[in-house]
Amino acid sequence: MTIDYHQLADRALEGGAPSREEAAWLLDAKDVELLRLVDAAYQPRRKHFGRKVMVHVLNNVQNGLCPEDCGYCSQNRDSGAAIRQYPMKDEQEIFAEAEAAARAGASRYCMVLSGRGPNLAYTRRLAEVIAEVKRRFPVEVCLSAGLVDDEKAKILAEAGLDRLNHNLNTSERHYPEICSTHSYADRLATLEAARRNGIETCSGLIMGMGEQTADLVDVAFQLRELEVPSIPLNFLIPIEGNQVTEDGSLTPERCLRAVCLMRLVNPAAEIRIAGGREGNLRSLQPLALYAANSLFVEGYLTTRGDAARDTYEMIRDAGFEVEGNPLYDADDARHGAFRIPGGGDQLLKPEIAADPVAGQ
Ligand code: SF4
Repeated sequence: MTIDYHQLADRALEGGAPSREEAAWLLDAKDVELLRLVDAAYQPRRKHFGRKVMVHVLNNVQNGLCPEDCGYCSQNRDSGAAIRQYPMKDEQEIFAEAEAAARAGASRYCMVLSGRGPNLAYTRRLAEVIAEVKRRFPVEVCLSAGLVDDEKAKILAEAGLDRLNHNLNTSERHYPEICSTHSYADRLATLEAARRNGIETCSGLIMGMGEQTADLVDVAFQLRELEVPSIPLNFLIPIEGNQVTEDGSLTPERCLRAVCLMRLVNPAAEIRIAGGREGNLRSLQPLALYAANSLFVEGYLTTRGDAARDTYEMIRDAGFEVEGNPLYDADDARHGAFRIPGGGDQLLKPEIAADPVAGQ
């Protein structure tokens, strides 16, 4: 097959997409011209987002203790991974972390909870926390809390939740290989409940879990069909003790091609290079920003401050700029020094996140 890269870009600029055959070719073919592919993906990225990069900060507000068996997740009931388990954090801790995220330049603060899904009482508690975070800080709030039905989606919508994250993770065909306690259909139903109740959806995938190219193409087109406006692209970080481990398919180039493909199939979506970007895209991360317009800053809440500083430097060095908020302090961000408001000189304590895959 030969591809006209200009035509690919033009189609995306008009809201179109490559064919499924072209999509598979772009992922697999030896003679793909990588820089021309990146340039094609950059055209719709520039049209919709200019040179801005949205920064999301994740907070695991509840870790572990999950009855589900998602094999890629160290919080799953059968995982032997050593993780710190804790129930939902205290509200004050969540507020302090939300403010620190805003000061770090995050435009969105993502609360992630382990578990199959919240019950009604828990949903109401979450709704109160979400409303208060939004009242206090200039960040949009995203929630990743497992399966949600219409009743719960309505409560969350009324609290002002901006986005509900629920990743498809892989194709319908491959789904039973990674999880048996809930289905792909359950995941679709959650996204539909969110949408029906006026909450923006966020849904993406994890590469490197034994899927075939056709599975990646399927999920890219499924997200297009669902008109998902926010798509996190995760790259599996293999964790000892988990059932789904490295499949050997991820090279930096394959990851970069997948980011470009996701942009070309979903031209106007916020495409995020998410969990595992550092270790899998490696030195190609700055190039990925020409297709993606969003990333997670892992690091200051979850691993090390260095990681956040490096990320801000990478954004600037590649010629992009952070889409900040009124509390954003670029100098602080560059130096990786994020302080708890009212906490004097106390630096936020790094934690080790149990689940490096962003969102559920
Ligand atoms: S991804 Fe979510 S539902 Fe699945 S095991 Fe992990 S915490 Fe539980």
